Amino acid sequence: MPEQSKPGEQDMVRHARGEVERSTGGGRKRPAVRDSLMPAAVQGFGVTFAQMFRTVTTEQYPFEPKVTKARYHGRHVLNRHPDGLEKCVGCELCAWACPADAIYVEGGDNTEDERYSPGERYGAVYQINYLRCIFCGLCIEACPTRSLTMSNDFELADDNRRDLIFTKEQLMAPLLPGMEATPHPMRLGDDEKDYYLRVPEKGSTAEPVAEETV
Ligand code: SF4
Ligand code: SF4
Repeated sequence: MPEQSKPGEQDMVRHARGEVERSTGGGRKRPAVRDSLMPAAVQGFGVTFAQMFRTVTTEQYPFEPKVTKARYHGRHVLNRHPDGLEKCVGCELCAWACPADAIYVEGGDNTEDERYSPGERYGAVYQINYLRCIFCGLCIEACPTRSLTMSNDFELADDNRRDLIFTKEQLMAPLLPGMEATPHPMRLGDDEKDYYLRVPEKGSTAEPVAEETV
């Protein structure tokens, strides 16, 4: 009496013989071997040839920089007023809004001799930990002065943890023409209301660059 093989062994034997069948999705089965009379090699080259006429989706990054959507959430920016004073008032609302606990803020007191922002307080220490940040944008929604916005910069990869904790100096917007490095006295009025209620002059070039990117 011939020895009975197990069901799994029968499948392996059929695979080896090329008798494998595949499902067509509707429950009907047909042989895996194509019906075409052309040799398999010619069929393979046909697939390659067809690809030559399709739209190329390969991007040549980093040789050709990637252009993001205008409202892409990238690296944060701490903006300035048109005279160069900082918009951050050190209130910590951004840190409280952050679901990833990625922001650390310490507020400081402005004095008449050393002023960084209009009003009483400024952000003395400001850090964003990009190992934690998920770029959700909740922090910029929470900021009452529009100090914190997000740019389109996405190149944040690094090979060590320390360099991914960005400091205030790294996050501050650059000084534009007409701006003065802090600390300095208020140039646009006698109190902070003059900064927040003031209508920008026509043709002024001293507007924050990153504000329009969110
Ligand atoms: S973008 Fe989101 S995760 Fe990143 S710092 Fe802001 S609130 Fe936190
Ligand atoms: S960035 Fe905005 S929310 Fe955060 S501490 Fe400064 S003023 Fe407050």
